[in-house]
Amino acid sequence: MTAGIYATRREMKTLIIGQEVGGQMVWANEIENYPGFAKISSFELIDKIKQQTLSFGVEMKSDEVKKIERTAEGNFLLYTARETFEAKTVIIAMGLSPRRLAVPGEKEFNGRGVSYCANCDGPFFRDKAVAVIGGGNSALDAAEMMSKIASKVYLIHHNGNFKAFDILLDEVKNRPNIEMLSHTEVRDISGAAKVEKIKIFNSEIGVERELPIDGVFIEVGRIASTDLVADLVKRNEKQQIIINSKGETDTPGLFAAGDVTDCEFKQITIAMGQATIAALGAYQYLQLKKGRPFVIKNY
Ligand SMILES: Cc1cc2nc3c(=O)[nH]c(=O)nc-3n(C[C@H](O)[C@H](O)[C@H](O)COP(=O)(O)OP(=O)(O)OC[C@H]3O[C@@H](n4cnc5c(N)ncnc54)[C@H](O)[C@@H]3O)c2cc1C
Repeated sequence: MTAGIYATRREMKTLIIGQEVGGQMVWANEIENYPGFAKISSFELIDKIKQQTLSFGVEMKSDEVKKIERTAEGNFLLYTARETFEAKTVIIAMGLSPRRLAVPGEKEFNGRGVSYCANCDGPFFRDKAVAVIGGGNSALDAAEMMSKIASKVYLIHHNGNFKAFDILLDEVKNRPNIEMLSHTEVRDISGAAKVEKIKIFNSEIGVERELPIDGVFIEVGRIASTDLVADLVKRNEKQQIIINSKGETDTPGLFAAGDVTDCEFKQITIAMGQATIAALGAYQYLQLKKGRPFVIKNY
């Protein structure tokens, strides 16, 4: 949306195709590091940015881009399941998506007890027993949040070396209804209509057992799913898109911004800054292509 704001202000006809407005911000709870707001709910911030984006005349479509091709003229064809769009430039801002656990039952029970977003689905598990899988800040955040909603929270980690802020780890350790199960992996998720139990294996003592639970929150990291532009861009070992200081990828006219890029750090303000660069880069690219001098006012 930030790229959209900048692009329309340079009078480029702009279409955003996205699966859900707000991206990962939907999964955050309160945002406390977005300058200008000491604390703001992620939904409020998303809505403010969306209204601003629409007010500049950006068109927004809720859809998934399945394929991107470059034409002989150097334009791009973007295919969704139902439509095809042609664009002179494209900014890829596909972000990150949750890493799957890849165990039996995960796919089948997705949305029926299996969730990748405690902030979105947590309230459905009031007074129930849930498991949170993972050991980073997101997993501990989810466990902390769920301990205020669910009756019991199992925090399951495959080794026990939690990679999270100390303050968060202390808070989780001190919650009476959180039970931390280290050296433990989930082997199976099962139930009838909804999740009813998981099979867990403790690798330290070599024991497998069943845990009756109503929900499983999977928080084992996020990955870049960039295969649809694999032929057009250079990627690093994490499949993140490599860009230069103007947001350009290996293909002229194709830019990238935000968490999907090889930038080491993943934050809203960084994604927005990169989106600004990419939009201005796209404008410069089009101006130069038309043989016009690139004059940009720096404000
Ligand atoms: C739980 C959580 C809490 C966080 N808290 C904070 C915080 O407090 N402060 C902070 O600064 N950052 C926070 N972050 C990080 C922040 O959310 C991200 O850095 C930021 O959202 C990145 O923005 P992005 O636009 O690059 O990608 P994303 O937010 O990932 O958005 C990518 C969008 O592209 C869509 N998409 C992907 N592929 C396709 C496709 N093929 N077709 C169409 N659409 C597609 C996705 O569905 C999504 O809507 C948090 C992240 C999480 C998960």
